[in-house]
Amino acid sequence: MNMTGWKENVRRVEPYTPGEQPKDQNVIKLNTNENPYGPSEKVRNCAMDYDLLRKYPDPAASDLVNTLALYHHVLPEQVFVGVGSDDVLGMAFLTFFNSDRPILFPDITYSFYPVWAELYRIPYRTKALTEDFRISVSDYEEKNGGVIFPNPNAPTARLLPLDEVEKIIQANRNVVVIVDEAYIDFAPEGSSALSLVDKYDNLLVVRTFSKSRSMAGLRIGYAIGQKDLIACMQAVKYSYNSYTMNRPSILYGCASVEDDAYFRETVGKIISTREWVTKEMKELGFRVIPSAANFIFAAHSTIPAEEIFRKAREKGIFFRYFKQPRIDNYLRITIGTDEEMHAVLDFFRELV
Ligand SMILES: *Cc1c(COP(=O)(O)O)cnc(C)c1O
Repeated sequence: MNMTGWKENVRRVEPYTPGEQPKDQNVIKLNTNENPYGPSEKVRNCAMDYDLLRKYPDPAASDLVNTLALYHHVLPEQVFVGVGSDDVLGMAFLTFFNSDRPILFPDITYSFYPVWAELYRIPYRTKALTEDFRISVSDYEEKNGGVIFPNPNAPTARLLPLDEVEKIIQANRNVVVIVDEAYIDFAPEGSSALSLVDKYDNLLVVRTFSKSRSMAGLRIGYAIGQKDLIACMQAVKYSYNSYTMNRPSILYGCASVEDDAYFRETVGKIISTREWVTKEMKELGFRVIPSAANFIFAAHSTIPAEEIFRKAREKGIFFRYFKQPRIDNYLRITIGTDEEMHAVLDFFRELV
């Protein structure tokens, strides 16, 4: 008798590798694009009623959905919330990408996209970014089963101007186009595809609380689109897990959105630190891709990225390094506090 016959029926996948989470808290951790400033005081001061934890949460997470709808000037029926944008994106793949034609995304992009495609057995094709890491709109004009890209892109940090995003949406009216806006709050005002949602019924915009709202530990993400798109995602969610959002997430998520002043202040600080660090790094011989995110993507003119990555790690400074064709001489560096970035620049100065 074959005792390992079950192995033939296993769904084998190559999982996504998240950035390292070092146990030592005394390191300068700039490898997973977290926000150094922590959530708003309003979140800190908002008391969770622990007795309520015995009860299931609202399956529709209505408080959070309504708060986000108000904030973005859309209807609650246009908002879908989930456990981080990874949950929202995974649900969107499952809901919208069911064609026999391949879905399209850039060759250098968020490395979770090919993982979901493999997991759900969605055919996909990647489109090469240009030499300087730009998305070419014309690559997305062929017949396909759907399109997804982050804007700004990750790990390149480059922003695709809104008129070009719109061209991609227009060229793909028969499939869903997902714009993953994990970093859009760090981009210039007017860059978000949210302004196009009313115009295009095939557009889904995905956001997260993990970066600009400094709540990666809570796991909140959301999508905004026209009502019909969101209803399709709800149906899939309720066929899978009704209670994705726990009570603390709903409560703290609302409190975060309600403190817009703090949100703007911390995002502004990160942007100005980014501009300063970019300038300093260029002077030290780095090629820095123009960033519209809370991280920068940079290569040094003489020192290999892998060497910088390794030496930094020995000093307790964590960057992200992708040993991947085309980008294996680049480092992805999250923007930390000014103090942390001073330490990083001192380390670079010593190195060069
Ligand atoms: C960080 C990130 C996400 C996932 O964020 P969550 O923490 O799951 O909300 C999604 N897309 C991109 C491009 C990201 O960088």
